Amino acid sequence: MMGPACVRSSMAARAVRSGRPRGEGRFAPREMAASGLTTPHYTTTGRGRGGQARYAQKAMRIGFFGGSFDPPHRGHIALARLAMESVPLDGVLFAPVGVQPLKRDRPQASFVDRLAMTELAIAGEPGMELSQIDAPRGDGRPNYTIDTVRALSTSLAANDELFCLMGADSFLSIAKWYRAADLLVACDFVVAARPGFDLGRITSALPASISVASCDEARGDNLVLCLWGAGHRESRLYLLPHLQESASATGIRQSLQDGMGPRWDLAPAVAAYIAEHSLYHDGGGS
Ligand code: ATP
Repeated sequence: MMGPACVRSSMAARAVRSGRPRGEGRFAPREMAASGLTTPHYTTTGRGRGGQARYAQKAMRIGFFGGSFDPPHRGHIALARLAMESVPLDGVLFAPVGVQPLKRDRPQASFVDRLAMTELAIAGEPGMELSQIDAPRGDGRPNYTIDTVRALSTSLAANDELFCLMGADSFLSIAKWYRAADLLVACDFVVAARPGFDLGRITSALPASISVASCDEARGDNLVLCLWGAGHRESRLYLLPHLQESASATGIRQSLQDGMGPRWDLAPAVAAYIAEHSLYHDGGGS
């Protein structure tokens, strides 16, 4: 169960294995421990006086993927994989949400079960990590994405970039989200197509105070839009039109409730967890 620091450190482990030094660079060891970073990710920036190599910490591009994950399914994994490949990103944090502000119905499975299933769903997926940043709050306040994004941003290094991942269905309701205009310029966004939801309507879903134009960035077939808010704060919106995953948590819960057999859209370990803990039978969770 990890935060962005761990995505950083698992990426960093590759740099260490490839022979780059430990414990040097932007963070002194004590600062590294305090920030949760044990092994920063280095790139060579040239040679210093005396010919020794100089190193700088490489900026990381980290995806934040929040959701109910009730249960996590193949559509979630496919979205994260596509974002990592095509945006591209160094890693994705999967953060099951404690209390979803906009969903009328509470998740059926408990937060603990959704966390456990999400960990099983991403096991063995390179670059994907579990985060508890959206655990239920002690004060009962819903988990607002603007709060989460701000908390994550402060835990990243100054030149790291944060991307909020979601499907088209979620983004189409963005104007109703808490402090939507602030959120839209607080980080970059990656929105993937979802069957039944029109990615072409994405710009009309933006709040009136947000301006939009296409960016100059070429990203294969993906469209990149630039967003501006009040005070000219700018962010980018990456659209991924090629995701075609019909998996849906609602459909999965319904068919489990109806006693249907093994599901193609669940990882075997997640299906086994659901069976073992008798989740989603009779419309209830644990
Ligand atoms: P439901 O099926 O009940 O709508 P869900 O799987 O969409 O559930 P969440 O777990 O909250 O619900 O989804 C997390 C994020 O994953 C959301 O942004 C959602 O848009 C996205 N997502 C889920 N399934 C897909 C899919 N098949 N294709 C694209 N995006 C998806």
